[in-house]
Amino acid sequence: MAFTLAPLPYAYDALEPHIDIETMKIHHDKHQQAYVDNLNKAIAGTENENKTIEELVKSAGTISPAVRNNGGGHWNHNFFWDSLKNNNGTKPSGKLAAAIDAAFGTFDAFKEKFNAAGTTRFGSGWAWLNIKDGKLEVSSTPNQDNPLMDIAEVKGTPILGCDVWEHAYYLKYQNKRPAYLEAFWNVVNWDKVAERFEKG
Ligand code: MN
Repeated sequence: MAFTLAPLPYAYDALEPHIDIETMKIHHDKHQQAYVDNLNKAIAGTENENKTIEELVKSAGTISPAVRNNGGGHWNHNFFWDSLKNNNGTKPSGKLAAAIDAAFGTFDAFKEKFNAAGTTRFGSGWAWLNIKDGKLEVSSTPNQDNPLMDIAEVKGTPILGCDVWEHAYYLKYQNKRPAYLEAFWNVVNWDKVAERFEKG
């Protein structure tokens, strides 16, 4: 069964001015579509055809690079779109806020750590906030890897992720990845992050 690209869960301009409409269109319609198409090509006629995207991602160490890269790309982008919403400056609250304070000291200290994970990731990759054994941790992965993968340096269940590939920000922010990461905090859907946190 072939994978398909779902529409964005909101309008292309929903994250303006922080993430621009043109970036969203190209990112979703071209980049993610390419991951889906290449994933389908790579699994066609193999036993991986019958696996879910989660199963593929979790077995990254034993699948081909094409399935790992494109399967990771598909899973990561679905997760990313679901993590975003123009939040009008809201911050996490309740149990999630308490867990962030417990793990990092303050919300600002957490942001700093997450931004550092994103800015110091050389080349292309992702910054993550993960939950593992009830505790929160920040990590980053190269390319389209993610913390669910058996080969991840830091494993965990991601509850927030930020795409730091140049294609995620170059049209609006050019080489200024830190400016994009700063803007990212305006479009984090904290209700969604809290929901993932509660699931653990
Ligand atoms: Mn991307």
